[in-house]
Amino acid sequence: MKRIAILGSTGSIGTQALNVIRRHRDLFAVEVLCAGSNADLLISQALEFAPNAVVIADESKYQQVQQALLSTDVKVFAGEQSMCDLMEMDSIDMVLAAIVGFAGLRPTLRAIEHGHPVALANKETMVVAGALVTQAAMRNRVPILPVDSEHSAIFQCLVGEHSGIDKILLTASGGPFRGMSRQQLASVTLEQALHHPNWSMGRKVTIDSATLMNKGLEVIEAKWLFGVEATDIEVLVHPQSVVHSMVQFKDGSIKAQLGIPTMETPIQYAFSFPDRIESHLPRLDFSNYPNLTFEKPDREAFRCLDLAYGAIARGGNMPCVMNAANEVAVVRFIEGELGFLDIADYVENAMQSAHFIANPTLEDLLQTDKTIRNQ
Ligand code: NDP
Repeated sequence: MKRIAILGSTGSIGTQALNVIRRHRDLFAVEVLCAGSNADLLISQALEFAPNAVVIADESKYQQVQQALLSTDVKVFAGEQSMCDLMEMDSIDMVLAAIVGFAGLRPTLRAIEHGHPVALANKETMVVAGALVTQAAMRNRVPILPVDSEHSAIFQCLVGEHSGIDKILLTASGGPFRGMSRQQLASVTLEQALHHPNWSMGRKVTIDSATLMNKGLEVIEAKWLFGVEATDIEVLVHPQSVVHSMVQFKDGSIKAQLGIPTMETPIQYAFSFPDRIESHLPRLDFSNYPNLTFEKPDREAFRCLDLAYGAIARGGNMPCVMNAANEVAVVRFIEGELGFLDIADYVENAMQSAHFIANPTLEDLLQTDKTIRNQ
């Protein structure tokens, strides 16, 4: 029985992870649940899965959660510090990092420092602190198992291979605005941006998919997870989202992982690795996909992709700068204060004016994130 702690249990990934656990109660159990501010959902999850402990990051919701779970054995905590501290519980066998954004960094790093294997959905953790996170994982001999569907695909292509990677072919759906010109993008609405053609996800990652910043973040995530240069990662737009990504090896052979677009498969694989376990999900029927197409991304219309390549080429705290500016820009776009095209301008401005640190410590990264947000 693997006892899992879920950071971000009330989100899109968190709830899908609980679906996986619900169907495999003989293999997985919930040890800890952590939420941001959705107290009602956290309470109902705690009542169903009876974890050892829950944390609500929003301290003003502590009373509500504590009162609701009074008659159970579930321990209730609040605040970010508690979330980090609980990552040191020895009863945890694996941590699913599924908080959105920079907020996921500290608890994930604490889990790694304590030696817990991590199933990683929170790509921002790798973007912001890829060097620190991978060094900590190696130092503590902790596996980081990718949950992002593209990275899970790459990982699955690499199982059994020993000869290194020639190139990664990272697929992208292209989002809701694929094929649009800059002129057309200037007037797209929030509602359109939130309507992803293939995936149902949290708001932030959905907007990132529409700008292609999500793919930029994934390039950086892949660089750190698989130890390749970003220049050896090619983004391919594949609107059907059936080929989840591919790896080319030095003899020119390419391996791909395919499946229906669902996050439950990569979540389950991260939980069960190295085994594959039963899934009730529908199987991919090729007759439903007579055309699997691939095209190059439009880097002029969707500038965020190149901003991410630029950030990782510069290195240091630059991906952290980019991520913080993007997180703020996405919130401001959601709140109607920025237009869709302004997101890339906003990120670029932040990157141009930021104080560069070549070899940042964790403290430097926390400070960089704070400074960019304040600016
Ligand atoms: P959601 O917005 O749906 O969920 C985010 C989760 O993080 C919620 O549980 C939320 O809690 C919690 N949270 C937010 N802020 C804090 C905080 N300060 N402290 C503690 N918890 C917090 O996001 P997704 O599930 O879509 O995405 C999660 C991560 O997974 C992201 O990094 C995303 O890029 C990545 N990912 C997502 C995919 C998807 O299909 N959704 C696919 C691949 C990667 P609450 O709601 O209670 O406030």
